Amino acid sequence: MAEDKVVQIGKYKVQVIRSLCIGAASCLAFSPSTFVLDDQKRAVIQEDSKDTPENIYLAAQSCPTKAIIITDAKTNEKVWPK
Ligand code: SF4
Repeated sequence: MAEDKVVQIGKYKVQVIRSLCIGAASCLAFSPSTFVLDDQKRAVIQEDSKDTPENIYLAAQSCPTKAIIITDAKTNEKVWPK
């Protein structure tokens, strides 16, 4: 099973808490280059994302279970969920 790894994308560090992910896939709609579903229908993060930080933020906001954690890569402050 994949770990809840943290991936830096631009100014953000992004993590999916896989135990919270229900495969709703709204994150894929907002950031298709960042999130994909694996064979367990849980989101995993792509290292070579081309999505903008704004779209990744929207993806995290769209997650019904708040499974996507965003942290400011410089300050380490949690940006989402608030
Ligand atoms: S929106 Fe949330 S629950 Fe749905 S696939 Fe993405 S991380 Fe998982």
